[in-house]
Amino acid sequence: MTDTMTPEQRHRCMAQIHSKGTKPEVKVRKWLWGHGYRYRLNVKSVPGKPDIVMRPYRTAIFVNGCFWHGHNVQLEAAQVDSLKLIVDSSCCKIPTTNREFWVTKIHRNQERDQENYRVLQENGWHVIIIWECQLKPAVIEHTMREVELLLNENMLARYKRHTPIPLHTETEPLPLAAEEEAPFGHK
Ligand SMILES: [Zn+2]
Repeated sequence: MTDTMTPEQRHRCMAQIHSKGTKPEVKVRKWLWGHGYRYRLNVKSVPGKPDIVMRPYRTAIFVNGCFWHGHNVQLEAAQVDSLKLIVDSSCCKIPTTNREFWVTKIHRNQERDQENYRVLQENGWHVIIIWECQLKPAVIEHTMREVELLLNENMLARYKRHTPIPLHTETEPLPLAAEEEAPFGHK
């Protein structure tokens, strides 16, 4: 393998650079913002530089391009044996020309992704991965509702961990006034 790229490869690389910070990521941001969620972008201090960081939820969101991150393509074992064993997925079709180049590149990305997720999780972060193909108009709403559920779960997990709810005792009446304000569904 050499560093020299074919025009096709160069085109893909340029397309990747130009699409950075645009399409899929923006769709996610817009949805979150429109639903009242606030976040930070590409926070360098957070391992792996996630696309979206939501500190109150202790959640890092990665919006992954299906091609570059090899969505649903298993490369681990296949690479060791033969390129022929690699099965493309519906959203990640690895070119047949210079296949080895692409497989190596995508595999490296996958490994880096896994390492980033691992480091984040070890540091107490929740990781949410959103795939580009999950943001198509027909499915984006469903995807983002799932993301919303995960965010709420992450918030609850955090709350449970840091703020144990005191047990009710005879001398300590239940805080009825507080209960009247819907305890769930509000941040
Ligand atoms: Zn995909």
